[in-house]
Amino acid sequence: MKKIILFLTIIILFLSGCARNTHETVFAMDTVMDLTLNDGDVIDTLTGEIARLENIFSPTRDDSEVSRINAHGGADVLSPDMQNALKKSMGYAAETGGAFDPTLDPLVKLWSHEAVPKRADIADALVKCGYLNIKYDGTRLTLPRGGGLNLGGIAKGYTSDVLKKVLVDNSIKSAILSLGGNVVAHGSRSDGTPWVVGVADPDGGANATLGTLRVSDKFVIASGDYERYFMQDGRRYHHIIDAHSGAPSTSDLREAVIVCEDGAMGDAYSTALFVMGSTRAIEFWRAHNNFEMILVTKNHKVIVSKGLLDSFTLDNGGYSYETCAR
Ligand code: ADP
Ligand code: MG
Repeated sequence: MKKIILFLTIIILFLSGCARNTHETVFAMDTVMDLTLNDGDVIDTLTGEIARLENIFSPTRDDSEVSRINAHGGADVLSPDMQNALKKSMGYAAETGGAFDPTLDPLVKLWSHEAVPKRADIADALVKCGYLNIKYDGTRLTLPRGGGLNLGGIAKGYTSDVLKKVLVDNSIKSAILSLGGNVVAHGSRSDGTPWVVGVADPDGGANATLGTLRVSDKFVIASGDYERYFMQDGRRYHHIIDAHSGAPSTSDLREAVIVCEDGAMGDAYSTALFVMGSTRAIEFWRAHNNFEMILVTKNHKVIVSKGLLDSFTLDNGGYSYETCAR
């Protein structure tokens, strides 16, 4: 898990159809973000919002709001965005039975050293975690001793909601924003056709896809084991933790993709469904009607929920295709 502390900004102007698009690449929240739309001023507003939210949610910056909360074991006053993100996170934690859990910082830190930690250290970190162990009354937050918030599983999705609002408020009709695995497909392409979003192939290289999604006005959010991980004794240890074991989840999934209309929800759900595994993820989908999903299993099955049958195309012969219905 290399930490690049570089804040990189590249601006490219190019022509797409008849609209003049501005493209900007930003390195923020430990990932590459690509913003494409036809209004340079709005791009500046978007990058400003990304930088502002990174100062709130970054677990690696000592001066971020989340780092200050963790250093003090809580806070008497939270910023409006922290309040909002924390409320949402606690709701998704309860809804997913803790598969998504915003309080796993002690475990996330323990597993960030690219080596399997000692059992005793995992047990020690586990007791400091758990969304039921924090006290939050809507204003005041108290963490358990040694505990810490980690909003890495929702921060990019939350940010994508804020960016979507900037687009709407500025009457932008067409834009595509990619926040490292979190895509905001806003409106349609300038020629009126849907945006085409690639679904990553966990076995492929950096830009390999297993299929494509055609979407308009949707958030497309992926979680998987293929980008941030280390190998030890022939086993893969990735960055998504199962709060029951205190270790990277060992479900049957390699990737979970959510298509929905709420970025924070999609980010929380993609992390949660990845931890749940395919059987529980399908049950969860059946119990909810506010998202669609694509699950990629370790044995190369791509499970596509019914609402995506017309928009998803599998174009990689290494995978079999299955659908799930309600
Ligand atoms: P990515 O950040 O790669 O897009 P995710 O949205 O799935 O992937 O978030 C993973 C990040 O969330 C981890 O790097 C960690 O900071 C945090 N995290 C790890 N496990 C969990 C979990 N079970 N619930 C909530 N957040 C988690
Ligand atoms: Mg997530």
